[in-house]
Amino acid sequence: MSSLILVSTLVPTALGAGCTAVIAIAPLRRRLLTGPLLKRFRRVMPPMSDTERAALEAGNTWWDAEIFSGRPRWGRLLEPPPGRLTPAEQAFLDGPVEALCEVLDDWRITHEWLDLPEPAWALIRRHRFFGLIIPEAYGGHGFSHRAHGEVVMKLASRSVAGAVTVMVPNSLGPAELLLRYGTERQRAYYLPRLARGEEIPCFALTGPKSGSDAASMPDRGVVCYGERDGASTLGVRLDIEKRYITLAPIATLIGIAFRLEDPDGLLGADAATGITLALVPADTPGICRGSRHFPLGIPFQNGPISGRDVFIPLDWIIGGRDGIGRGWRMLMETLAGGRGISLPALAVGAGKLACRFAGGYARVRRQFGRPIGHFEGIEEPLARMAGRTYQMDAARCLFLAALDAGERPAVLSAILKYHLTETHRGVVDDAMDILGGRGICLGPANPIGRAHQAAPLAITVEGANILTRNLIIFGQGAVRCHPFLLEELAAAEAPDRAAALDRFDAAAVRHAARLGGNLVRAFWLGLTRGRAARVDPGMDGLDPELGLAQRRLAWLASAFAVNADLVLMTLAGSLKRRERLSARLGDVLSLLFLASAVLRHHHDQTRADPAAAAASLPLARWALADLMQRVDGALRALWRNLPHPWLALLLRALSFPAGSPLRGPDDRLDHAAAALLLAPGAARDALTRGIYLGAAVGRVDAALDAATAAEPAEHKVRAAVRDGRLPRDAEPRHAVDIGVLSAEEAGAIARAEVLREEVIQVDAFAHLTGGRTGTERAPVPDRARAPSHTAPGAEPERSAA
Ligand SMILES: Cc1cc2nc3c(=O)[nH]c(=O)nc-3n(C[C@H](O)[C@H](O)[C@H](O)COP(=O)(O)OP(=O)(O)OC[C@H]3O[C@@H](n4cnc5c(N)ncnc54)[C@H](O)[C@@H]3O)c2cc1C
Repeated sequence: MSSLILVSTLVPTALGAGCTAVIAIAPLRRRLLTGPLLKRFRRVMPPMSDTERAALEAGNTWWDAEIFSGRPRWGRLLEPPPGRLTPAEQAFLDGPVEALCEVLDDWRITHEWLDLPEPAWALIRRHRFFGLIIPEAYGGHGFSHRAHGEVVMKLASRSVAGAVTVMVPNSLGPAELLLRYGTERQRAYYLPRLARGEEIPCFALTGPKSGSDAASMPDRGVVCYGERDGASTLGVRLDIEKRYITLAPIATLIGIAFRLEDPDGLLGADAATGITLALVPADTPGICRGSRHFPLGIPFQNGPISGRDVFIPLDWIIGGRDGIGRGWRMLMETLAGGRGISLPALAVGAGKLACRFAGGYARVRRQFGRPIGHFEGIEEPLARMAGRTYQMDAARCLFLAALDAGERPAVLSAILKYHLTETHRGVVDDAMDILGGRGICLGPANPIGRAHQAAPLAITVEGANILTRNLIIFGQGAVRCHPFLLEELAAAEAPDRAAALDRFDAAAVRHAARLGGNLVRAFWLGLTRGRAARVDPGMDGLDPELGLAQRRLAWLASAFAVNADLVLMTLAGSLKRRERLSARLGDVLSLLFLASAVLRHHHDQTRADPAAAAASLPLARWALADLMQRVDGALRALWRNLPHPWLALLLRALSFPAGSPLRGPDDRLDHAAAALLLAPGAARDALTRGIYLGAAVGRVDAALDAATAAEPAEHKVRAAVRDGRLPRDAEPRHAVDIGVLSAEEAGAIARAEVLREEVIQVDAFAHLTGGRTGTERAPVPDRARAPSHTAPGAEPERSAA
């Protein structure tokens, strides 16, 4: 017995001491642990291509890296000051942007003109809409990222075609490339011309054979001598075929990506080659701009460009000779910020519009004797629209604040691009379901139908969404944001074996320590379901529920770090093929980012506008509950699909040792969130702030105000009907006759009815039935016409400022 006790004590002690010695004694550790690990690491990690390396080195990391660390420092989330517009930026939004919105008659653009109208082009030139990001020194506005985003968002809530037209020259195009990489001569010549709208730019990367895999482009440029201005000049002969290029049909200046080759060594023996970008005037001999594409009936200018034997001098290359072969890096670096600005702004603009329009409509539209928004079935999509638009706006504001503070978080820009465009598609779909036939019948009275049609555009461009989710977010996130992986990869690639082992060993030791810490932390916080997490600093305005959400986020970040590390260690390079596992890990990272953004949004709103923050509390709660539930779903889907059941069991036990408390919004929270869209108020205004309110939305708003004002009187009528004092179908004036209502109350009901009648009408087109051409609205019955209400097209339009 005593020998058994001795053995059972001695063996584990000896094993423990042995392990400690192996870990603590560096030569032993390298020989027995990190040396073999490095060999295996080299075997399983696929070699990195130059284009992958450029993508990985673009931009920087910020809150994404904090989440990845498993122990986020909350102070970093609060570092970027909240975005504020300067007086000049606000004046631009209130003046020229408002004016442009007024002339962007989206129905006629999409149905009749198939282009922006001339007054819109004139405003774009006069107010230098193509120079939002160009510094004042070059004749542009030099706006902040926040202001740039606000302009695109407001335009998108009026006309997607208008927004895309303004968006493209301001992002990922010639202006930004010149600002960052152009020679001083190129900047001095082109930037003022671009700002004034004298040049219309486009950027041509995509071709028929290279879409998502743009780096595989077959477009070639061969270095050669050619004739320019009567002299023999060193340059490049281009053969290109591009398609889907926005603004190409009317562009005067074309940014072109091509693969530069120098078979005769004319640039010198050691000169760089590879993907290169050039700015080519559209009238250069050999350039051919083809006929227009027609992207889903949203008629911004878009089309193919081709060129055969196009000779361009070397100084047309962006950055001149120094820019040769650096094109991919330039594109990845501009994408690191830009991808998170324009399309997310477009998505949020459409989401806000959908909330305002469909929410108001749901209160005004009655079926079965009640507003449809009061049915639980409709509350569900209404709450989802409101809560997810709140998430989108929070993420947009946070990302723009980070950019304005000098961050360039490339992984976060991919998260913004994917999640906001997907979420906006869902929000617009929900709006369509709520509107029923009112959303389906197109016409000037229906601003949501075209938004619905346009949704796939944002999904597809600037990195198609499936690719972005499955390949980029976690694929790049793991390497960029992981505290040690990049260092380990770099060590593995070092040519000097001894130095490589030194470097790898140092990183692996710190990696193991961090993993150990996260394992313990995730398990302990999991046992307390997040309650034991310490978060410092806390944030303003967090009620107990949001405070708990912040602590849960801290717990889930540790759990995420453990899941990411163990899956990476087990599956290593094969994770690149196992895209769906990578996508689910990316989802967890993204959802944790979005949840952090919601907390920060509420904190900022509490400081700036406490009343709106208090009114919007149900939205913040809904948004967090929804995100937490989705984190739970993504983790479970990951575990279910891991190739090793033991790993799934281990990860589940470490992450959720006491089960999961992560539930989505319940029906009561849905009810509270939906109610905010069904009545005028601070929360509805704050949620939809910054969009343009056209005539159609104006009608819904007016009807909503009237319906809300008439509510007390309607209660009285219902009570009288219940008591048998009034027949069910009594006119309001009967209620006045018997003293149930005052004349004003009856007037309020009548006015609400008039405006309701207007809102429920859809457009009808005589020319489609062989009658006269043109459009007309279905006639509003005479009794429904309110004396104070002007014809739809003549209504003053306004913004949700
Ligand atoms: C309206 C419009 C405007 C555009 N404007 C421009 C412009 O101005 N300039 C420009 O250069 N380009 C422009 N584009 C091109 C746009 O960026 C490409 O459409 C996009 O890169 C996708 O390429 P593709 O359409 O050929 O799709 P494909 O590459 O054929 O992809 C099809 C599907 O496969 C998925 N997929 C591809 N690879 C993977 C993978 N490894 N894993 C998972 N899924 C994958 C994609 O996500 C997508 O869902 C525009 C496109 C459109 C439609």
